[in-house]
Amino acid sequence: MPDSSWKLVYEGFDSAQEGLREALCTLGNGYFATRGAAEETEADDVHYPGTYLAGGYDRLQTDIAGRVIENEDLVNLPNWLPLTFRPEDGDWLNLRRVELLDYRQELDLERGLLERRLRVRDAEGRETSLASRRFVHMGLSHLAGLEVTLRPENWSGRAVVRTALDGRVINAGVERYRQLNSKHLVPLETGTSSGDGILLVVEASQSRLRIAQAARTRLCRDGEPLAVERQTFEEEGFVGQELMFQATEGNAIAVEKVVALFTSRDRAISEPRQAAIGAIDNAESFDRLLDSHVQAWRALWDRCDIALDNDPHTQMVLRLHIFHLLQTVSPATSDLDVGVPARGLHGEAYRGHIFWDELFILPFLNFHLPEIARGLLLYRYRRLPVARRLAHEAGYGGAMFPWQSGSSGREESQVLHLNPRSGRWTPDNTHLQRHVSAAIAYNVWRYWQATGDREFLSCYGAEMLVEIARFWASMASYNENLGRYEIRGVMGPDEFHDRYPWREEPGLDNNAYTNVMAAWVLRRAAEALDFVGIERRRELEGLLALTHDETARWDDISRRMQLVFLDGGIIAQFEGYDRLEELDWDAYRAKYADIQRLDRILDAEGDTVNRYKASKQADVLMLFYLFSYDELHDLITSLGYPFEPDLLRNNIAYYVRRTSDGSTLSRVVHSWVLARGDRARSWSLFAEALESDVADIQGGTTMEGVHLGAMAGTVDLVSRGQTALEFRDDALWLNPCLPTELQGLRMKLLYHGNWLYLDISCDRLILSAPNGWGGPSRIGVRNQVHSFKAGDVLEFDCHVAGGGWRPMAATQRRKEAGARASQAEVTTGGSRGATR
Ligand code: BGC
Repeated sequence: MPDSSWKLVYEGFDSAQEGLREALCTLGNGYFATRGAAEETEADDVHYPGTYLAGGYDRLQTDIAGRVIENEDLVNLPNWLPLTFRPEDGDWLNLRRVELLDYRQELDLERGLLERRLRVRDAEGRETSLASRRFVHMGLSHLAGLEVTLRPENWSGRAVVRTALDGRVINAGVERYRQLNSKHLVPLETGTSSGDGILLVVEASQSRLRIAQAARTRLCRDGEPLAVERQTFEEEGFVGQELMFQATEGNAIAVEKVVALFTSRDRAISEPRQAAIGAIDNAESFDRLLDSHVQAWRALWDRCDIALDNDPHTQMVLRLHIFHLLQTVSPATSDLDVGVPARGLHGEAYRGHIFWDELFILPFLNFHLPEIARGLLLYRYRRLPVARRLAHEAGYGGAMFPWQSGSSGREESQVLHLNPRSGRWTPDNTHLQRHVSAAIAYNVWRYWQATGDREFLSCYGAEMLVEIARFWASMASYNENLGRYEIRGVMGPDEFHDRYPWREEPGLDNNAYTNVMAAWVLRRAAEALDFVGIERRRELEGLLALTHDETARWDDISRRMQLVFLDGGIIAQFEGYDRLEELDWDAYRAKYADIQRLDRILDAEGDTVNRYKASKQADVLMLFYLFSYDELHDLITSLGYPFEPDLLRNNIAYYVRRTSDGSTLSRVVHSWVLARGDRARSWSLFAEALESDVADIQGGTTMEGVHLGAMAGTVDLVSRGQTALEFRDDALWLNPCLPTELQGLRMKLLYHGNWLYLDISCDRLILSAPNGWGGPSRIGVRNQVHSFKAGDVLEFDCHVAGGGWRPMAATQRRKEAGARASQAEVTTGGSRGATR
């Protein structure tokens, strides 16, 4: 029986759903991706075939609301999909003009294959079955394949297949950007090659990125090439061929299109045009390419799959999330100079920009494909000079990374924002989210912890940490009255608050998340200098003109950063939060079906969300998400504030109910922080987060691109969140607490280059490192430390009681040369466990 947990299946055609399906059925390989639009369609009110290249940006200017603004977009590249047919005297296939007898679309996650089967009847009563298969090659990242098998069911006669490369496309995937200029591609060349090939070359208007596509289209009957009459059509930015053949009732014809895409950024080529032609000339058949593509996916799944027991839907969606993550960033990405766009390579929302969402994405990569994480961090490293300039221009020191980043690392955030509810353009202050720099530092540190990649830390990571620490130190100002440092005029992660209702200029003071992150960065930067060794430390001190006085000031700031508290030990999201009004959540829930975007609702009502204690997404609670209990305890107490035992519980309860979860990232965070305290609520938030894209819970945003942070966040929530996996004090710590809805999970993790296998159920935990283990020699399960070495299998009996977890007995089975399990020593660790 086919395993449904590997397939996303749609029965029947639904024009209202098509945009969503196209985004969710996107195929990609980290180099480029193409939406799952049907091959016979063009962009219209239902379909939007989009193809995007990792890092393929271009800038255009537009006159809007009385000013000229410039936007950088991930360019919609020429559409390579077009492949359709008609009987010689009939119309080109158009689902709106035929009777649809059958329709089924299936995304095979295991093989990275999009399949569609349909049967149509035209006005003349001719019935035809079509079966299409499509892949974007995971191993040969410049190649894609499309095969359509046509079977005339009740007719014979001359028929025509049309294949094309269409460079006349524009960026029109997001309704609210339609007032902006969107024509990025300049046509350069069209032509043919080797008889069955067509070629298209275009260039992005400003970035001058040159893109060449070549396609080879062949017809086969019973595995044998079919003789066809071929006619080529060319116009500016478009090349197509019509292939005429004799169709006979009951006989299937396979149309095979192999496409190559190269750009002027590619390495190991002379130029893209030649490379594309050479690639299709030498490409293997569709079937053989599919075989090697499936092999490449197999290797990825072997590393990345998380197998769950007893929950096929959760399993399928989790795999869908891993799938889209790996299609956006893959082994091919590690060698490219690209970051990870918040909406994947799946659509045009946020213009393909890169935000802080990497914070939710890198943890999974760190433990499964660290080379990709490294590549993404290097994207930031290469933009350090621009970040230094941004800091300097804003009057700060060090490096200030932009809130939205694209090609060059300049600030890409828009200056005006359209509220689709009110139709008004309002100033966009989101660039004040300076915390993005802290997220980059955090990612550097966690990558280093998970991989032990000292070369990276030494050559790149430490410099980034130092420059980001410098930035925070320059932002922090000393308040004599308080005897503390403050950071003023920023935005926290919660995008509902960009200013005080009582102040003209945008920005908030002493955002708790920002301040704690800044203190943390200052400490890690100093620590990194110790890790790189004395030689490199001296080099860096010389190169960066870093003095002892400067690091001493970092230390002082990291101990005296200001935090504001509300009554009951609640950490105030920012200073002045207490002056905001409570929102009548029940009234708004009753009045509007969906209040996730309360900001837009209030704005359309002539009010502003800035007046209320209402957040779009987790802000203070981000701290509980990013840090374990011990880390947070250390951070808060080092700042000289008490860490009361109920600090976590009270803050979680306070903020979860004042948050609308208007960002898909928010549910991930809330589910994580509630995992131990309120398992039922945590699971329901996880289930909602899981549905973010597959059920399009924001009502129309997924068709503009998937929410990659939430996708990766849900996967991480299962792999690290439910297991409370962390590495500290030279030991690997686990404190699994599977929700009752999950009966068990199996996965493997990479730690410092060593694979660790985990098999967890509600009453058993098995850890093994069969291929040799060079990781920590101590493994902590809950608060007991066990010795561990290569070839060991550690097995624990557990039980679920009162919503908690505790080991009944821990036995350690040593499988050395087939020897019987032997009891090993168990020691009690001093840890207080994780917040998770
Ligand atoms: C969220 C940000 C996020 C961005 C891109 C926004 O809606 O508020 O936190 O970085 O989307 O995903």
